[in-house]
Amino acid sequence: MVARPRRPRQPQQLRPQARDRTQRRVAIGVDIGATNTKAVLATADGTVLDRLHLPTRLGGAEAMLAGVDESVARLRERLDATGVPDLAALGLASGGRYSQADGTVVFATGALPGWLGTPVRDMLTHRYGLPSWVDNDGNAAALAEWTCGAGQGSDIFVGLTLGTGLGGGVLIGGRLVQGVRGNAGEFGHLTIDEQGRPCSCGGRGCWERYVSSVALVEAVEDAIREGRATRPMEELRATATLTARSIGQAARQGDTCALSAIAELGRWLGVGLRNVINVLDPDLVTLAGGLAELDNLLVAPALDELARQRVPVPRIARARLDIWAGAVGAALGGLSLVASP
Ligand SMILES: [Zn+2]
Repeated sequence: MVARPRRPRQPQQLRPQARDRTQRRVAIGVDIGATNTKAVLATADGTVLDRLHLPTRLGGAEAMLAGVDESVARLRERLDATGVPDLAALGLASGGRYSQADGTVVFATGALPGWLGTPVRDMLTHRYGLPSWVDNDGNAAALAEWTCGAGQGSDIFVGLTLGTGLGGGVLIGGRLVQGVRGNAGEFGHLTIDEQGRPCSCGGRGCWERYVSSVALVEAVEDAIREGRATRPMEELRATATLTARSIGQAARQGDTCALSAIAELGRWLGVGLRNVINVLDPDLVTLAGGLAELDNLLVAPALDELARQRVPVPRIARARLDIWAGAVGAALGGLSLVASP
């Protein structure tokens, strides 16, 4: 970078201060999950100045937005106490899908009852008088990962979150691909077996029914039912501690039942990735969420499947951001609405 000549110092330094304020603009990002609502106060480079979480208030749109009100009020109070940056925008992310044309929820599962049809963007704009951004949590997390996580510098980027379901988002040339009807990046519902397992979306054989923590637990439960499981897996089931995490721990200790369930999940990861690669040919795919902790136990079988399918393989890396990625992405989305002068 070429160094610019230094401006002469002005006694009152009005301009540098003004520029400083712009660069330090902050937004509040809120991520509404089925259990918890997370909220952050973040700058445009993804720096989190403050954060909080509270239980999601289920029971309709107004109850959920009351949780957003509380998050915003508490973060705003702390912001006012510091007296430094300006609150410039808001962002909100959740499961489901939003129409980018009017900011309304166009799809929501039973996990967020009463959310479908809510004109969230308008409601936020009216409530707070600030530019407001809404999108699903997978898109928000991908935006954050690209901006300040492991996705930095990627040109065609796919960020996947492997948790209870499978979420994701795409950035091309640094721009989040949201889709005309908010349906872009819905990787969890790619059909990988049209006669397959029923999904919460009403479809069958969706990718997240094969690659998710729920799918991993189901795979081990199937093995137990069919008498193929190992003793430790049966014991975990008997003590109601059969979870993706406990299966992962058993696999690291060499449990063959856990290892084969994870390997099967990894193979399905490869099957879906093949579709992703054939559409987008990304240079980088990051994996976030609880299952990403399985690292090579999961990724190696996926790579084997891709090699078998003879498709070009992108770099596959662990995401760097944690469970706050959705809230950070929502804040970044909000700040994207207020371009710097
Ligand atoms: Zn589905």
